[in-house]
Amino acid sequence: MRTGFILGVDLDGVCGDHATAFRYVVAKERGVDPASIPDQQTWNFTEWGLDRAGFEELHRRAVLEHRMFRTMPVVAGCAEALWRLSDAGVSIRIITHRLYTNWGHSVAVSDTVEWLDANSIPYRDLCFMGEKTDVAADAYIDDAPHNVSALRAVGAPVLTFSQPYNLDVEGPRAEGWADAEQWVLDEINRTGRAVETPLKLATNPVSRLSPSLAQEGEPNHFEDASG
Ligand SMILES: [Mg+2]
Repeated sequence: MRTGFILGVDLDGVCGDHATAFRYVVAKERGVDPASIPDQQTWNFTEWGLDRAGFEELHRRAVLEHRMFRTMPVVAGCAEALWRLSDAGVSIRIITHRLYTNWGHSVAVSDTVEWLDANSIPYRDLCFMGEKTDVAADAYIDDAPHNVSALRAVGAPVLTFSQPYNLDVEGPRAEGWADAEQWVLDEINRTGRAVETPLKLATNPVSRLSPSLAQEGEPNHFEDASG
């Protein structure tokens, strides 16, 4: 029996709330209330009046000046679900296309790594690449319709993380991280891989990498280990 299971996880729109982060940047740049900007409905932000060049310029400022990759809100339940899967023997492989332009790679990469730590997201591999089909994972979670299609075209199991711009994509899909976690466990079962049943964690997993993020009153796991 094959053991181990590699989960390929996208960042923007799956682990990080890219739409909210980018909306605040666009609002600030335009000097308007973020609430006045409608929800993102399309992959290309056409409802925000952005063409390709307009999007790229705003995105450049979002990354380099507003440091969006360091400050982006995390999607609810992401770190907890990934820690439980990691504890169950799943190897987390983050795959992101954040280097798709010619500028700011140092900021984009370092802010991404800082963000992953600050939000206590576990991972064993970090891939900055666009061709997700070239990443040898056993299953994938992504929000981009073109990535889901490309992965399915090569027979890779992929879960669509629901966003307004991917509602036309056929299932399976997740409405949040609870769904995503269950899909991964089902996928492991389906493939007959040997991974352990998730343990009920004694400590909040999100406190593991950043003790300062631990909720008040929660035991410090570093002290627990030494004492
Ligand atoms: Mg994405």
